[in-house]
Amino acid sequence: MLIFRQLFDATSSTYTYLLAERASGQALLIDPVYEQARRDAALIAELGLTLVWTLETHVHADHVTGAWLLRERLGSRIALARAGAAQGADHLLEQGDRVAFGARWLDVRATPGHTNGCLTYVQDDESRAFSGDCLLIRGCGRTDFQQGSSHMLYASVHEQIFTLPATCLIYPGHDYNGLTVTSVEEERRYNPRLGGEVSEGDFAGHMSNLNLPHPKKLDIAVPANLRCGRPEGDAWAGSEPSWAHLHCTFGGLWEIDPQALSEVAHGGQVQIVDVREPAEFHGPLGHIPDAQLIPLGSLQDSLAKLDRGRPVVAVCRSGSRSARAVAMLQQAGFAQAANLAGGMLRWRVDGGRVDNAQE
Ligand code: FE
Repeated sequence: MLIFRQLFDATSSTYTYLLAERASGQALLIDPVYEQARRDAALIAELGLTLVWTLETHVHADHVTGAWLLRERLGSRIALARAGAAQGADHLLEQGDRVAFGARWLDVRATPGHTNGCLTYVQDDESRAFSGDCLLIRGCGRTDFQQGSSHMLYASVHEQIFTLPATCLIYPGHDYNGLTVTSVEEERRYNPRLGGEVSEGDFAGHMSNLNLPHPKKLDIAVPANLRCGRPEGDAWAGSEPSWAHLHCTFGGLWEIDPQALSEVAHGGQVQIVDVREPAEFHGPLGHIPDAQLIPLGSLQDSLAKLDRGRPVVAVCRSGSRSARAVAMLQQAGFAQAANLAGGMLRWRVDGGRVDNAQE
């Protein structure tokens, strides 16, 4: 079984694609975004996958790739076009290469024109192609910098993409109107720049009159992407909590496992807030020693009871009400707040200490 996800970065309107083979658990990401590396890593963990590759469709001018950061965290390998001339990749790709994940693979097609190193990745059964900025939905990437060429782009689209099966779905590198997917047949017919009866001369005339502004991030993104997204000084610009071993969920919630909480629960370094009702707190599941009882319904009015300088872990029966508590705490400015994953149920299964439990 193939796992497929389309992910979106709203800041740069970039699509990132996850493809994985269930049997082996091997996954790859196409065009990960630096600021979304935590989200992507969380999804890969929640789906029980191993990231083996990050692939770039090209050296981007509008966002920094997450390739280097994901390699640092997950041990994935970086592949992109040899023609892109980036430093620090693990593998350089050319026309006709194959990138394997488990028993599945992507075929590499060189589709220069937006940049001189653009690649389109075609799924092994030719049911999907990932066209980067070469072919967009009813559009295409600009050709006025990074060695772009309308002549090359026209040839790439007609020879490498429009020759795929008519039903092949095309997933672009960006969309600025909320569109998500198209097909070879649709773009052959309806792409106003490249489809229908449009000639190369018509296309060149269209492209030379786009009058597009200079991309805002070009001067930052291109040099960083020529290092595969490695920041200068190797510093990760995001803030990772250091007070305990936490993980971030795909839903964006910081969680702490029972084991990690046991390690920091002593000595008052962490405030444990139990947001269940009093009858539950004093009921059969018991409660964590030193936990303060503040039912979720009264948390908003009880924030003054908590010390903003110390981390807070919210606890409930299963981890659901406490997730809401963490969101409330964060909104109220508590920078160090986490949810006990799985609540009291998992805390007890994992052998955590409990006061007042009735077996
Ligand atoms: Fe681009």
